[in-house]
Amino acid sequence: MAGPSKEKKTLQMTVQTVWEARKSIQSVVKKTPLIHSKKLSAQYGATIYLKYEHLHESNAFKMRGAVNAINHLTAEEKAHGVTTFSTGNHGLAVALAAKKMGIRACICVSKHVPTVKLAAIKELGAELEIYGEAQDDAEQRCYQLEKEQGLAVIPPFDHPHVIAGQGTIALEILEDLPQVDCVIGGLSGGGLLSGIGLVMKQTNPDIRVFGVSMEKGAAMHESLQAGKTVSVTEESTLADSLLGGIGSNNRYTFQMTKNYVDKSFLIPEHSIAKGMAYLYKEHHIMVEGAAAIGVGALLDELLPIDRQENIVLIISGCNVDGVSHFKAIESYI
Ligand SMILES: *Cc1c(COP(=O)(O)O)cnc(C)c1O
Repeated sequence: MAGPSKEKKTLQMTVQTVWEARKSIQSVVKKTPLIHSKKLSAQYGATIYLKYEHLHESNAFKMRGAVNAINHLTAEEKAHGVTTFSTGNHGLAVALAAKKMGIRACICVSKHVPTVKLAAIKELGAELEIYGEAQDDAEQRCYQLEKEQGLAVIPPFDHPHVIAGQGTIALEILEDLPQVDCVIGGLSGGGLLSGIGLVMKQTNPDIRVFGVSMEKGAAMHESLQAGKTVSVTEESTLADSLLGGIGSNNRYTFQMTKNYVDKSFLIPEHSIAKGMAYLYKEHHIMVEGAAAIGVGALLDELLPIDRQENIVLIISGCNVDGVSHFKAIESYI
């Protein structure tokens, strides 16, 4: 299936695919506000908007892709239920989406996933499959459940329906700010920026899309640099939602990120901390490092921005690792 069908599916995705996703998710996923940041605009000298994607019920944009993917299952597949292996925002989104739609969800985790995360998943009514020592084991278990029990795997980023779901962010931005010049968002598996990039570039190739990642463990950034998928070691970061590989058998997001993201940048931890502190201080929101990373990158002058432009930063989520992350940003507040 890999070769020709991959090419075909990538090429088949259009703005229309994303419009269809928007129709499909609209009863469950609400449009989020686009906020003009007066302070950041004044301080930085460009016109800067924040897309408040942390306001979803699951606290992150991942609801968009998860709901769209589940909506595209057949009635029979829905009756069997869904499974995934992410313990982060995607896992929470799948659990919540399944709960809302009244279908079974089973989240596969390794033995080392912290109990806070397990509690959050359980609270949403999802089942937990605790299996193996590492994330890879949990992923394997997930595909085993697909074979044994007929559960549908909802992948975290490398899937056309997930990508189209995330792309609905771009449609909302274009509605609210048709004069947008540049969009900046966190880059991990690339579902977010594949979807946004697809819509922006097909609408107007002059709209620029920038990806930002933490310095260590940025799998997509390293893969783009190498021109092939590479794996990286994970290190502790304030932007923990940006950790994880892109899959050795990546089918969509590597190619789409290559096509649609103009450039990707590595941002040091202190800049991420500064971004979090800034949003807390000036906008009174406490968001994840993965969401504040673009703000930190601007504040530290790490991106090639034309000051005449209208810039949108994707504030992607607010599932903050409470106390430890708050301590890390304290000195910047
Ligand atoms: C998943 C996630 C990202 C990155 O999205 P990808 O599709 O994996 O590139 C950014 N921010 C937050 C809060 C996320 O949960």
